[in-house]
Amino acid sequence: MKLHEYQSKTIFSKYGIPIPKGRVAATAQEAKQVAEELGGRVVIKAQVLVGGRGKAGGVKLAKDADEAEQLATQILGMEIKGLPVRKVLVDEASAIDQEIYFSITDDRAARKPVMIASAAGGVDIEEVAATDPDKIIKVHIDPLLGLREYQARDVAVAIDLPRDYWKDFIKVAMGLWEVYKNTDASLAEINPLVITKDKQMVALDGKMMIDDNALFRHPDLAEMRDTDEDAPAEIEARKYGLSFIKLDGDIGCMVNGAGLAMTSMDVIKLFGGEPANFLDVGGGADSKKVAAAMRIILTDPRVKAVLFNIFGGITRCDEVARGILTAMDEVKPKVPMVVRLVGTNAEEGRRLLEKANMITAETLADAAKKSVEAAKKGK
Ligand code: GDP
Ligand code: MN
Repeated sequence: MKLHEYQSKTIFSKYGIPIPKGRVAATAQEAKQVAEELGGRVVIKAQVLVGGRGKAGGVKLAKDADEAEQLATQILGMEIKGLPVRKVLVDEASAIDQEIYFSITDDRAARKPVMIASAAGGVDIEEVAATDPDKIIKVHIDPLLGLREYQARDVAVAIDLPRDYWKDFIKVAMGLWEVYKNTDASLAEINPLVITKDKQMVALDGKMMIDDNALFRHPDLAEMRDTDEDAPAEIEARKYGLSFIKLDGDIGCMVNGAGLAMTSMDVIKLFGGEPANFLDVGGGADSKKVAAAMRIILTDPRVKAVLFNIFGGITRCDEVARGILTAMDEVKPKVPMVVRLVGTNAEEGRRLLEKANMITAETLADAAKKSVEAAKKGK
């Protein structure tokens, strides 16, 4: 789950990381009022869950409250990378001397958190990473020991931070480590972390991603989810406890078990097809859940065929078959469906599905091949 800038910065601030004064606003009038309260120059920032807002014109400086209102009107009318701007953050403007990049994220390959920093922070950090990777410093953090102050100091030295700012930087780094650890974040990023002309170190931007699988122990964070920007299919899937990820292909997949789902996708590709989604209905799925899964798959207009690959262990094949039939009643699918059922009550399941004109298969390879052929015919 991604958090908005204003949400991330509020969390940073609780951990002692300095942030500009400011508040989020949903209307231009409200933005004007916040600007009046803050007095002086402000920055108006689109709150959308994508990067590169600055370059897209979603971050603008205003000299006074009237201009703040004007710019807020403009930004609230924008779409950034397809996402409508529904809120703006109004922050006290900073006079910037230097922009630093600083983040803590998961390094899956190393199986450790990694701290990433660069003196060349700001809107061009991706370009710096591509053309000048030496300017990006990476230091791994031992998950048991946590971030040590000396590591943060080493990073400060490595990015040529003047000695006067080491103390501030270490405080920010230790704070961000606590944020990352305590919220089960997969990313906590400050870009830019600025040094202002009056020699303050401030987190001007903030971005966080929280591990969805850890949200059960962070109800306060779970509440912050902005579903406005999620695909409707994903919201629906979450409601039924389905693990669903939309992909670009045309073969819908309904599988029980994440490993089996991945295998099914691989085998589809092996036979020259492309999966339209990853969908794990989970162990012990009942017919309601299966029906929801089918609705989700079939509302994607790109789907030209559906592959069901069910291994009945805890999940009973007859339950799955009933779910499929219920959903077919509701959705009236027009695309061919290939089903492979094995395991508990598979016979009963197959018998139920025989009436439904589905293509049956004995093995996964057979099922994948048939679904690829069916999808090709459907084009
Ligand atoms: P992003 O483009 O989505 O990463 O949005 P940021 O919040 O990082 O803002 C983009 C850029 O706008 C920053 O890198 C700064 O250069 C600039 N910016 C943001 N806030 C201020 C501010 O208060 N004062 C000044 N002078 N520039 C700002
Ligand atoms: Mn930024």
